[in-house]
Amino acid sequence: MDDCLFCKIIAKEIPSDIVYEGSQAVGFKDINPKAKHHILIVPRRHIESILTMVEDDQQLMGHLIWDAKKIAEELGLEGYQLKFHVGRRGGQEIDHVHLHLLSA
Ligand code: AMP
Ligand code: ZN
Repeated sequence: MDDCLFCKIIAKEIPSDIVYEGSQAVGFKDINPKAKHHILIVPRRHIESILTMVEDDQQLMGHLIWDAKKIAEELGLEGYQLKFHVGRRGGQEIDHVHLHLLSA
């Protein structure tokens, strides 16, 4: 997607603090962290939102959780929160699906 901030971050057209680069997703630090550790796990393929997710996206979405687990293990986190914001009324501001990993 030409006009998508997260696609540009993944393509490294816009700088970010990338902590993880997997085959299907990238993890980078949230620019405005809401916790000591706040990482966004973002699929390389542009999916807008869980609102528009289709059945074929299931495997990729599951992969995001797996990648979050790997990042948490690398950071030595013993407990954390994983969150999706879904749609404007669910707090979603950026229309490229992303999983928030948050931990103290
Ligand atoms: P959401 O409300 O789920 O759409 O979350 C979007 C998140 O992206 C927010 O927590 C923002 O702080 C974060 N964010 C916005 N711009 C950037 C950026 N350039 N680099 C890293 N994180 C960003
Ligand atoms: Zn995108």
